[in-house]
Amino acid sequence: MPSQAIPQAPAAPRWLPPALLKMYGAVAVFFVLLGVWLVADLQRGHDKVLSETTQRAVQRSQIISQSLRTQVLATDYVLRDVLGRISEADLVFPDPDPEHARRMTALLKEKADTVPDFFSMVVFNRDCVFTATPSGENTGARSRPALCDARKQHRGDDPLATYVPGTQSASGRSVIVLSRHLRSSTGAFVGGALGVVELERAQQRFDALVLGEGDSVALLDDARVLLARHPLLAEAIEKPVTAYAMPTALRSGAPLASVAAQPDLDGRERLLGFSKIDGFPFTVVYGMDKALALADWRQRAVELVAGYAALLLLALLVARSQWGTLRQREALRASEAHFRMLAENMADIVWRTDAQMRFTYINAADERVRGFARQEVIGTHVRDIVAPQGQHLLDAHLKQRREMERSVHQGLALKYELPMRHKQGNEVWVEMSSVPIYGSDGHITGYQGVGRDISGRRQRETSLLLSKQQLENQLHRAVDEKSALQELAMRDPLTSLYNRGFLDAALPRELARALREHQQLAVVMLDLDHFKKVNDQHGHAAGDEVLKALAALLKKGTRESDLICRYGGEEFVAILSKVSAEQALQRVEAWRLRLADTVVVSGDVQISVTLSAGIAMFPDHGNSPEQLLGCADEMLYQSKREGRNRTSVGALSAVGTTS
Ligand code: GH3
Ligand code: MG
Ligand code: MG
Repeated sequence: MPSQAIPQAPAAPRWLPPALLKMYGAVAVFFVLLGVWLVADLQRGHDKVLSETTQRAVQRSQIISQSLRTQVLATDYVLRDVLGRISEADLVFPDPDPEHARRMTALLKEKADTVPDFFSMVVFNRDCVFTATPSGENTGARSRPALCDARKQHRGDDPLATYVPGTQSASGRSVIVLSRHLRSSTGAFVGGALGVVELERAQQRFDALVLGEGDSVALLDDARVLLARHPLLAEAIEKPVTAYAMPTALRSGAPLASVAAQPDLDGRERLLGFSKIDGFPFTVVYGMDKALALADWRQRAVELVAGYAALLLLALLVARSQWGTLRQREALRASEAHFRMLAENMADIVWRTDAQMRFTYINAADERVRGFARQEVIGTHVRDIVAPQGQHLLDAHLKQRREMERSVHQGLALKYELPMRHKQGNEVWVEMSSVPIYGSDGHITGYQGVGRDISGRRQRETSLLLSKQQLENQLHRAVDEKSALQELAMRDPLTSLYNRGFLDAALPRELARALREHQQLAVVMLDLDHFKKVNDQHGHAAGDEVLKALAALLKKGTRESDLICRYGGEEFVAILSKVSAEQALQRVEAWRLRLADTVVVSGDVQISVTLSAGIAMFPDHGNSPEQLLGCADEMLYQSKREGRNRTSVGALSAVGTTS
């Protein structure tokens, strides 16, 4: 075998090709960056929403505090009006002038009626003793010393506002007291006027505020006592607020401040804006619900995260499917290469065609078997490589394949033998095995198979067949020769009549048949008369001619069932079946008379002879060959004795005449 480089199977597929790895890396980096941006953006958005909301809370607290200040100053206007109408001299208690006292009361009543917020109005002296009231009651009462001290110390343009809990107020109700003061030319405190606003009234003002959804607003005094709130929290009113810390900026004197996300009085987390009411010891706290503020942001965050996740999932799916495809392709490539490696090293022809039966692949074995180079075969039709005398076999195979594809045997391998064309013009017998290849849609996309060179086998089969035929011929000849030899052994060479051996074998058979069939049978013994003389006078050869002439005469006119034998020398025996004694006699007499009329010509001599005969009949003259032959011989002897050229029948008297 010629040595040949064995193609190696390819290495196992790499984990990932660098190009794909790079692409996956880029996509991963993209997603990481996108994720970081997303988180940062959401964080930014979150912070922005909170800061904007906080600002809004501060703005609203400021608007409300300004509105409250305006309302306070509007009531303060009445206090100022009252103070403008009185002097230090009017602040005497008890008033010695009843008329003066009555006028003071009337003035206060008139002014108090112009301020619906006021529960009451009072004029007081330097000791904070009430000198006049709208109703005239409670005069002589005195504010608490701490309150009085605060009034004395109060400076500035704004009136003094003070929260007085019900436990400390003259009326027993919780109130805010607004007071303005009179000072002498030296600046000494000489008294003033005050208006009382019930805390309930402040709460009613708060209740009337229209707030945003989830918002809250509260009014605190400087000691952080809750004075009013919307929505109302009755249990928290007039109690110090501990739910949230006051901003440090506010404590250090700033008018505005904010606090991010604090639990409010009702427990809800709110962004709180603080605004001090300018000139008064009160602060407005406006709260905006954090959850509601972040609702839109949260929605956007969910959408963005969902979008990101969907995008990531999509990318993962694409990558996964791409990877799967790549691995499949690699596996296919490896298996294809493996197939080629195996196919190229096979001694058998391995081939593959498209659906139109044009070769798309054939291995090197084909060139070794048929002599055609691979390039000469690729693209040609299957029919082109089959020898002309194999075309009908190919047609039969194709028909069988078509029938199989319509049956339950679809897809099974078909085996067949075909003579293929060899490049040198001769044919090569190949045993083919082929199967169809199916596409994913179930249709045939091609065929593949294996072919084996069986020329040697076919040659051996042919020569075996030939020698078998030769042997058979020889056998036939031998059989012919044997039967010829057998025939030869049964015949007398000179006359071609059966010999005595044959008669000895045949006579018992003939007798058995006659017995079986209840037929008669004649045994005739014939002998030439004075034959010795013929030999003596004309020579042995002439004698032979006479013997042959007699044999021919006897053969002529015998029936199929008759047997004529040369019994020895010039003696003959004839077995005539199914004859009576008369019929036998007639036939023997016919022979005798014809011989008597015959002239045998040998050379230039003419010879005339006669015969004598004896007939023995079965069953009349015997049952066995010996008895019958003996009887016939006896009858022959009788004919000789009686003068020759005559026939004698057993039990019958001799007939015939001597010539
Ligand atoms: P008969 O009338 O009493 O029969 O007298 P015959 O002379 O015929 O009888 P015999 O038995 O004395 O003689 C038979 C002769 O037949 C003797 C022999 O030479 C001759 N003979 C026997 N066989 C052959 C043969 O094959 N060829 C020839 N030419 N002569 C034969
Ligand atoms: Mg004789
Ligand atoms: Mg004789």
